[in-house]
Amino acid sequence: MVSDKINILKTKLPKDVVLVAVSKTKPIETILEACSKGHLDFGENKVQELVQKQENLPKNIRWHMIGHVQRNKVKYIAPFVYLIHGVDSLRLLNEINKQGKKNNKTINCLLQIHIAKEENKFGFDIQEIKEFIENKQYELWTHVKIVGVMGMATFTENKNLVKQEFEQLKSYFDELKPFFSKEFKIISMGMSGDYKEAIEAGSNMVRIGSSLFGRR
Ligand SMILES: *Cc1c(COP(=O)(O)O)cnc(C)c1O
Repeated sequence: MVSDKINILKTKLPKDVVLVAVSKTKPIETILEACSKGHLDFGENKVQELVQKQENLPKNIRWHMIGHVQRNKVKYIAPFVYLIHGVDSLRLLNEINKQGKKNNKTINCLLQIHIAKEENKFGFDIQEIKEFIENKQYELWTHVKIVGVMGMATFTENKNLVKQEFEQLKSYFDELKPFFSKEFKIISMGMSGDYKEAIEAGSNMVRIGSSLFGRR
């Protein structure tokens, strides 16, 4: 049972590390089983799948959007999403703010920062973030709350490289923290293959799919 795997993993994680169970491609029934045993944080990476699952599952689930979000799709998740991890552009932030306003809520976001050597990973350059802080642009986002950072390491067996990349993200987090509110405290990094390195480097939110739900 997935709920058993989740509970076992939770006992191994440090107390301050939140487990986001990444349920993408997995059926409603599997999520329901885990949720009925008390796990409430689930991550999805596709808007359509996320919306469909949200409609058919208990409303107290905390839905994490962990994938890349297209601007024209923010409106579908804005009413219910708990945390958007993959925020990687100003235009996306503007749109999230707009949809937050429409829904009369503040939407929690993580700034996805590019840390991997690989080219194909999304994310801000740290320089871009510093610029919007300097421009005071974020003060316009009345319905966005930036609560931390997210990053993905290079997909490699080279654990040293992975560790270096996670340490880089942690140091970006430390650097950015003074500019945001007290609620800026999440470092979302680590997946099935690299969450141990991530936690060693300071992660307090891991996104784990395949080692809980099996291969996709
Ligand atoms: C799929 C996915 C995960 C989980 O990956 P696993 O290797 O299955 O644990 C974590 N983060 C993001 C952004 C993902 O897309």
